[in-house]
Amino acid sequence: MNIILFGPPGAGKGTQSDFITKSFNLHKVSTGDLLRNEIYNKTHIGNKIKSVMDKGILVSNEIINDLIETILSTKKFSNRLIFDGYPRNLDQAKNLDILLKKYNQKISCVFSLNVNKELIIKRILGRQTCTKCGNIFNEYFKLSTNKNHPCGTKYLIKRSDDNEKTILYRYDTYIDKTLPIIEYYKKLNLLYELDGTMEIDKIFNKIRHILASIEA
Ligand code: AMP
Repeated sequence: MNIILFGPPGAGKGTQSDFITKSFNLHKVSTGDLLRNEIYNKTHIGNKIKSVMDKGILVSNEIINDLIETILSTKKFSNRLIFDGYPRNLDQAKNLDILLKKYNQKISCVFSLNVNKELIIKRILGRQTCTKCGNIFNEYFKLSTNKNHPCGTKYLIKRSDDNEKTILYRYDTYIDKTLPIIEYYKKLNLLYELDGTMEIDKIFNKIRHILASIEA
């Protein structure tokens, strides 16, 4: 089963995809995480994309397509993928179709997490990621405590693109470039829309039921 998770920045894609990955033994592909990793490791690609990502602009399709082909061609991940933050525009979606055919795979289901702009801004401005365990916390909605986070607060960082100006740009990019692809998957009868303002557990419960029915 391959899954796509859509939603504007801050919709909760990272949190939900982590839950899905664990429960359904899938492999998560967050293109944002892969790109941040390139920057962290100061690779050739990383040096090229740092300023683009800091402004919230989409990285070139060539770079993304190469990253995705590497993953789709890996046997152990075959039909076990959950895409978080990919595809981001119609060209990427079409290229994904070509690659899926090439590696004899398909998309089983597409989720879209819907959240309004005001809530997104608040969520993103409060977002903190632990560099040690990768878990995501929030200053307003989900504080890191001794109980829920043994690493403590010292590894918590804010993303350099999580500022108000960049959030607005990323949101507009989502509406312009990414929303049209959702229509594309709707026509293929693969789309499930979810209210991303609900509690995290409730959203995951809905996702779990849908995926269980698809697996059955
Ligand atoms: P994310 O972690 O998904 O919020 O993505 C952070 C940033 O990484 C975006 O604002 C883009 O600059 C870049 N990015 C992530 N995924 C993609 C993608 N599929 N295509 C182009 N750029 C991407």
